[in-house]
Amino acid sequence: KKKAAPKKKVEGAALIGIDVAKEEDFPEWYSQVLLKSEMLDYYDVSGCFILRPASYFIWEEIQSFFNTRIKSLGVKNCSFPLFVSEDVLEREKDHLEGFSPEVAWVTHAGSTPLEKKIAIRPTSETVMYPYYSRWIRSHRDLPLRLNQWNSVVRWEFKNPQPFLRTREFLWQEGHTAHLNEAGAQEEVFQILDWYSDVYKELLAIPVIKGRKSEKERFAGSYYSLSIEGYIPATGRGIQAATSHCLGTNFAKMFNIQVEDPTSKPGEQKPPLNVWQNSWGLSTRSIGVMVMTHSDNRGLVLPPRVAETQVIIVPVGITAKTTDEDRQKLYAEIDGLVTVLTAAGIRASSDMREGYSPGWKFNQWELRGVPLRLEFGPGESAGHFVTTSRRDIPGKDGKGTIAIPELATAVPALLDTIHDDLYKRADAEFAAHRKVITKWDDFCPALNQKCVLVVPFCLGEACEGEIKDASARKAVEETGEAEDAKAPSMGAKSLCILADQGEGIAPGTPCINPKCTKPAEKWTMFGRSY
Ligand code: AMP
Repeated sequence: KKKAAPKKKVEGAALIGIDVAKEEDFPEWYSQVLLKSEMLDYYDVSGCFILRPASYFIWEEIQSFFNTRIKSLGVKNCSFPLFVSEDVLEREKDHLEGFSPEVAWVTHAGSTPLEKKIAIRPTSETVMYPYYSRWIRSHRDLPLRLNQWNSVVRWEFKNPQPFLRTREFLWQEGHTAHLNEAGAQEEVFQILDWYSDVYKELLAIPVIKGRKSEKERFAGSYYSLSIEGYIPATGRGIQAATSHCLGTNFAKMFNIQVEDPTSKPGEQKPPLNVWQNSWGLSTRSIGVMVMTHSDNRGLVLPPRVAETQVIIVPVGITAKTTDEDRQKLYAEIDGLVTVLTAAGIRASSDMREGYSPGWKFNQWELRGVPLRLEFGPGESAGHFVTTSRRDIPGKDGKGTIAIPELATAVPALLDTIHDDLYKRADAEFAAHRKVITKWDDFCPALNQKCVLVVPFCLGEACEGEIKDASARKAVEETGEAEDAKAPSMGAKSLCILADQGEGIAPGTPCINPKCTKPAEKWTMFGRSY
């Protein structure tokens, strides 16, 4: 259901480009950026989207980065079936309760009703753990660390959003079993650090680490850790990835037990339930990246995930240029590509005839290529290339590099682009993360697109009151009804900050004026996706 775009002229936009400003109509802008950069296409089943090669490349880079890390920990990749029987899915009741409204069921084969309906996995705890109980026979089989790169289905009813919230999404899900809490705990925090690295090192996105509140915790977990991002254009928080310690909850339901290794010969200590973790990062990360960095000229890709990092465009060719001169220029450009490729840069050239340099510039900008090199007779004579950064449009983003320095200067410039993208996003997040200690300041800050760090008692009921009260207050102030999309949406807890700074001074009250309990932890609240 796309709204008609207001046909306003957007500064810097070309005919082939985005015709609505990010600041004017964010959802329409997002949709145009994804479609026109050929990242994604819509599909005729609502909530499902096609990831075209331009975005799948990014996912592959994430896979490669994360695989390297988890394999160093001894995690092995595998593949379990897509289906789960009703009996098994229902085995862990708390877990099922959390997911049941979103489970998609297969009820027919052709026109024949199945004797028992079969669920499509919303996540694979219940798919995998019956086999963990078979495979884990002794404490010597621990830790068992498996991971799948797959897709899961959650029939979400909230407004679907490409990448951010889709009914089928790609992710990895790691599922591990440990002898004791210490082993599980070490891993669950390690994975969180690596998730944060995926965002920071690859996508140039800042995230905040923390723990989920009781209300927001994963169904069936002992505790849930998360990293939380921030979308500047809407002022909403977004759960960027989660790492759950499941405790022994699933081990009890699925009988995943080992003998106690401290048992002496002849001694019969009761068997131990194993400790488990599950952790997941999805293609949502790609949406956060697009929403954060991209602009009114289209996609802006952080260099490390850009399939084309450098595009070289011939310039200064006129009607007067001889065929010989043109061929010489093209040959020199081929040479530049060779040098850059040898330096480990994903570089290519755009020698298409019949398109002006300006048209080509626009097209590569739309597709988010981080760095453009321009090369014409002037550059050739002077032995340099002209550089133009995608992340800084106009004159400020221009420079030159001497040809002999290409192989070192271009990788350095790409790193600078990455760092600058990160710094800008980090400054934006920091400027919109306000410490609030008085309720009266809560909603005004929320309405200024901030996420709020508040003293909180950690109570579940209290969190609900904060959400309702902030939604009500926003309706009073903005006159809008509550709606998943409207700014009048209430605030929920995003995470209990891992970094508590100096902690909370004793006697500090909970942010909720109706709450009589003292605050326990600094907790980040915000409107969220
Ligand atoms: P969970 O199993 O609920 O902890 O989900 C793991 C991660 O997947 C979350 O932290 C989200 O970043 C992401 N995720 C959850 N639901 C969706 C969805 N519908 N579409 C895309 N990503 C999702």
